[in-house]
Amino acid sequence: MRQSKLFTRTRREAPSDEVAKNAQLLVRAGYIHKEMAGVYDFLPLGLRTLNKIIAIIREEMNAIGGEEILLTTLQNPEIWKKSGRWDDAVVDVWFKTHLKNGSELGLGNTHEEALTALMTEHISSYKDLPRYVYQFQNKFRNETRAKSGIMRTREFIMKDLYSFSKDADSHKEFYEKAATAYESIFKRVGIGEKTYRTFASGGSFSKYSHEYQTVCDAGEDTIYIDESKRLAVNKEVYEDPEVYTTSGIDKAGLKEAKTIEVGNIFTLGTRFSDALGLSYKDAEGKATPVFMGSYGIGPGRLMGTIVELMADEKGLVWPETVAPFAVHLVSLGKLGDEVSQVADALYEDLMKAGVEVLYDDRDTSAGQKFAESDLIGIPKRIVVGKDAVATGSFEVVERATGTVVKKTRAELLA
Ligand code: ATP
Ligand code: MG
Repeated sequence: MRQSKLFTRTRREAPSDEVAKNAQLLVRAGYIHKEMAGVYDFLPLGLRTLNKIIAIIREEMNAIGGEEILLTTLQNPEIWKKSGRWDDAVVDVWFKTHLKNGSELGLGNTHEEALTALMTEHISSYKDLPRYVYQFQNKFRNETRAKSGIMRTREFIMKDLYSFSKDADSHKEFYEKAATAYESIFKRVGIGEKTYRTFASGGSFSKYSHEYQTVCDAGEDTIYIDESKRLAVNKEVYEDPEVYTTSGIDKAGLKEAKTIEVGNIFTLGTRFSDALGLSYKDAEGKATPVFMGSYGIGPGRLMGTIVELMADEKGLVWPETVAPFAVHLVSLGKLGDEVSQVADALYEDLMKAGVEVLYDDRDTSAGQKFAESDLIGIPKRIVVGKDAVATGSFEVVERATGTVVKKTRAELLA
């Protein structure tokens, strides 16, 4: 993409009311726009990164047998009344609205109810199980504290997968597969080393759920880490002796850390299938409730976490797997001169070679171009100036380290 065609501008100052580092930098670099507290738009660069994160998650969900769907945001109160979660006293983040005729509707904050009700039309026999169904879908939550930029917003895309199994044992088997897929996702987006599988309160069915918690000072959670086991305990269950017998973690010697919850996996059991009448006939013809699990990740929160962990004083720094472009090609030429012509040709060649390139073809100063390039944070920068044209050797600057190597055109294309 030619940068002259990119409608977004970078800016020197972040919005004065923005406290989160991730939002400050993403706004300044033109990745996102702030509508109001906890509400953001994704602009071309931001959407490219968000979509890369989504693509990685999708690959991993498909690899464990996930089938992708897209449910509506609009929620039928009748279904939620059956599970007991329509009440604002039970779910405190509801956004609700009304139809013209006065009847109530909800904006989905999660989709256990809707999907469980839907699956009653598709699951009736043990032969229909297991099923693993997921979506990337907008959730609405009336969050009280929205000061963490894109890590806690009032509308956000969630990847939510729901598993439908015959019994607790087959559920457990899939649950572990999902855990492995999650670990692979966090590794691929570059936060694997700082992310811990964490025992947390489980809610309705099992005593514990698992959260994936990433160590970061900007986090809102506190966990206690057992480094040798790569496991942790959330503060909310830290005083519970049973968590240590269940997990095999030794309470002595745990290390406290501030963390961001990037994902979680839940055993739901028959909480929703009982409430909404989702059962199957086993081999003997006996009606049995379906055993469920749910598995969430917020791609936007993941993107914010990557920024919090990797950005430096000059701006954003992206791992290659989620960067909006692989290469930032920066031309120091003036319209039509030899430098511009060499840069244009290199741009075309890189595109033909299948490299994703952002090409700074604008008529601005070198200093401004480099500062903006640092802010935008594309992993590699190739500089085309008079020197490069004279010597045939191009400077390649690695954004994360500042390392500079020289490469010929042939080496670059290879
Ligand atoms: P938290 O405790 O941080 O509010 P949660 O327990 O409400 O999270 P879930 O309902 O389990 O989160 O949602 C699944 C995933 O969706 C979370 O692990 C997180 O990655 C993401 N997520 C949750 N709330 C938000 C939000 N307000 N903005 C962005 N992402 C979110
Ligand atoms: Mg929440």
